Amino acid sequence: MKAVVLEKPGDLVLKDREMPVCGNGEILVRVRACNICRTDLKCATVGQRDLVYPRILGHEIAGEIIEKGKNVIGHTVGGRVHIHPGISCGVCEYCKKGLDNLCDQIKIMGFNFDGGFQEVIKIDQQALRSRVVNQINNENLAYEEISFIEPLACCVNIQDRLKMNGNSVLVIIGGGRLGLLNLFVAKAAGIKNVILIEENKERRNRGKALGFNAVFSGSEPDLKNQLQMNSNNQGVDVVIPCCPGAKALDLALQILRKKGTLGYFSGMSRDDTFYPDINLIHYKEISVVGSYGCSVKHSRKAKTLLESKKVNVRPLISHRVKLEELARGMDYIKNGDGYSTIVVMN
Ligand SMILES: [Zn+2]
Ligand SMILES: [Zn+2]
Repeated sequence: MKAVVLEKPGDLVLKDREMPVCGNGEILVRVRACNICRTDLKCATVGQRDLVYPRILGHEIAGEIIEKGKNVIGHTVGGRVHIHPGISCGVCEYCKKGLDNLCDQIKIMGFNFDGGFQEVIKIDQQALRSRVVNQINNENLAYEEISFIEPLACCVNIQDRLKMNGNSVLVIIGGGRLGLLNLFVAKAAGIKNVILIEENKERRNRGKALGFNAVFSGSEPDLKNQLQMNSNNQGVDVVIPCCPGAKALDLALQILRKKGTLGYFSGMSRDDTFYPDINLIHYKEISVVGSYGCSVKHSRKAKTLLESKKVNVRPLISHRVKLEELARGMDYIKNGDGYSTIVVMN
């Protein structure tokens, strides 16, 4: 079978690998779609702290069960599934509380072991115990759509932690894939006023068409007043930066109202030339809420959002590539071309 292997940063190689053998307690999943994440690009170009080489990247996986060991209960051959990428230990204090994304022993597909940029992936006993196989119960959902469950679940995680209500004024900075997924999660939860700040005019227009109540450029001179006006003088309750720049974090702190909340879910890229004014957290008594990835529970919730059609990710599908074209797919991500690039396999 075909697999794209990262030998070392900068070195992605298409290889022919042995087809995995399905043990008694295991299942085999044929990967049908794997969404490329910015993290994959980072791993492929500069590496990542959890990465062991050689490694097959890809953690946003949708596929079909093609074989099942005789001791496996509850999954069917032919079943359409999302694969949750985190395998947790099940016994640590975090796991016991259902916070498996924070498990002390967490192993992540595409980092600690091989991920979705291969034709067939083996789900072993520990992974099955960790409930990574997420059965899809809506046959109208395409595999490409199913491959959005992981990033969608990351948005569910941060928004669950933020505890907003329908009247919260939410600002999202960055109108790319994660900005729009955050919009969809917020709208599905009944948040009435969601505002986008984005530098690219085309993305602002697209954001407006897809449901943002108002859109602005971050460099607008009158931005703070505009935000007051667009929130009935309530001010901005919550900001979720959905782009990695230090300037976006700074802008978030600038526009939040006093006692507002920063939702910090994707980390910040290093920038030694610009420091966000974190003293604003002090002066304005801002709360900072972090989130890291998603738990099995968030994946289930994201899956339900898609199955019930409360969230439609179709407008975000912009590029499809074959497995052997993964490097080209990574270029789309690098150049910010489109909203998503999905590796599609038959
Ligand atoms: Zn991802
Ligand atoms: Zn654990």
